[in-house]
Amino acid sequence: MSAASQARRLKGADELEIVAFERGHFTSFSACGIPYWVGGDVTDRDELIARTAEEHRARDIDLRLRTEVMEIDVAGGRVRARDVESGDEYWTPYDKLVIATGARPIRPDMPGADAPGVHGVQTLDDGQALIDTLTRTRGRRAVVVGAGYIGVEMAEALINRGYEVTVVNRGSEPMSTLDADMGRLVHEAMEGLGITMVNDAEVTKILTGEDGRVRAVATEDAEYPADVVVLGIGVRPETTLARAAGLPLGDHGGLLTDLAMRVRGHENIWAGGDCVEVLDLVSGRERHIALGTHANKHGQVIGTNAADGYATFPGVVGTAVSKVCDLEIARTGLREKDARRAGLQYVTATIESTSRAGYYPNASTMTVKMLAERRTGRLLGVQIVGREGAGKRVDIAAVALTAGMTVEQMTSLDLGYAPPFSPVWDPVLVAARRAAKALNAGTS
Ligand SMILES: Cc1cc2nc3c(=O)[nH]c(=O)nc-3n(C[C@H](O)[C@H](O)[C@H](O)COP(=O)(O)OP(=O)(O)OC[C@H]3O[C@@H](n4cnc5c(N)ncnc54)[C@H](O)[C@@H]3O)c2cc1C
Repeated sequence: MSAASQARRLKGADELEIVAFERGHFTSFSACGIPYWVGGDVTDRDELIARTAEEHRARDIDLRLRTEVMEIDVAGGRVRARDVESGDEYWTPYDKLVIATGARPIRPDMPGADAPGVHGVQTLDDGQALIDTLTRTRGRRAVVVGAGYIGVEMAEALINRGYEVTVVNRGSEPMSTLDADMGRLVHEAMEGLGITMVNDAEVTKILTGEDGRVRAVATEDAEYPADVVVLGIGVRPETTLARAAGLPLGDHGGLLTDLAMRVRGHENIWAGGDCVEVLDLVSGRERHIALGTHANKHGQVIGTNAADGYATFPGVVGTAVSKVCDLEIARTGLREKDARRAGLQYVTATIESTSRAGYYPNASTMTVKMLAERRTGRLLGVQIVGREGAGKRVDIAAVALTAGMTVEQMTSLDLGYAPPFSPVWDPVLVAARRAAKALNAGTS
């Protein structure tokens, strides 16, 4: 809908007819807000809807809800749509096509995965179903499967609703988008919040009671009683239609586009959001990163180009921020294993500093880990774990990465300072100094 809205901004209804198909009940909602709605920070579902169907239609976008596209006929320039309620099917021709089918949550293929009380959190309908379960059940024990950012955000939501929360995680530490040493800090903080963390554990079965409802989550070694289970085990690009239509897909299963977000080899087809692969500007490789911040930018670029303008999306550095209760978790650029996989030699520096001047009230500690390339000194990545003020500090590093700065150059960045906001040397600068020193010493 970002693409449709942008195209409409540039071209009126007399110049460009826009039809949008959506199989669900809603458009333009913030899935990112679902954990905060479930947790009670946001009380009204409608606050998560950025623009309603009526608002889109008032701008001459022919939005067809509860309508699923079943097939793309690239040679014929048409799509086959099906009304989900009636089952009626029809073909709609196009001159230009935008594919924005998003990502599909991974559902574990095991007994009990679809039992009542087991929930995903991808759509507003999912969020409502979970809230209904939490309101109805008299239970108090929740198991979250997966400790990526959605898993940890949902752990917070369930804690806020008074549940005893266990997180079962396949990896050695939570937040596999961080290096394990930084993930360890998240692990310890989550346990400090009263969350039980179970790492290196593969869920084998979801057990149900006589009433058919979920009663426990089983791993090879143990059973974890559960009145409700939330799944957060990742997503894959939803490219079923694109694959069937013979459009080019990358190694991660996402559509491949050029910098104008045009599907490679197809003049009149664009794709963006969670269904595409993006260029990682640091490693130079294609990756699949399912984030709303990218999807919105893709939409803007696609809408401009589909309306005969010109815009490009250069790629990403892999910045993400999330939190569990008062713990903020942020990352940008490469982890150690990404750097190794890319064949880069690097040094690391990990420092502990404070969010404010040490003498100022409520200063809290944060840990910053920085990677820099040997020989060139180029910044490769930053991870930050800490309390208030830690998370968004990663944006300094995201800008430095985008600009291709060295850690030496970063040490003299003119960042704002006053005691309530940072120590005189901001934690990111302290990490840059330490990384520069490690480069000079030839150590890591
Ligand atoms: C719980 C949660 C928290 C998140 N938090 C963050 C966050 O903090 N920060 C961040 O940047 N990102 C976050 N995200 C990710 C973000 O929501 C997604 O990256 C973003 O929504 C992707 O947008 P999209 O338009 O590509 O896909 P979607 O928003 O998934 O939209 C795709 C739409 O296509 C429809 N569709 C698919 N196939 C068809 C078809 N054949 N016919 C008709 N319709 C079809 C689907 O029903 C869906 O509505 C979060 C996601 C979740 C689930």
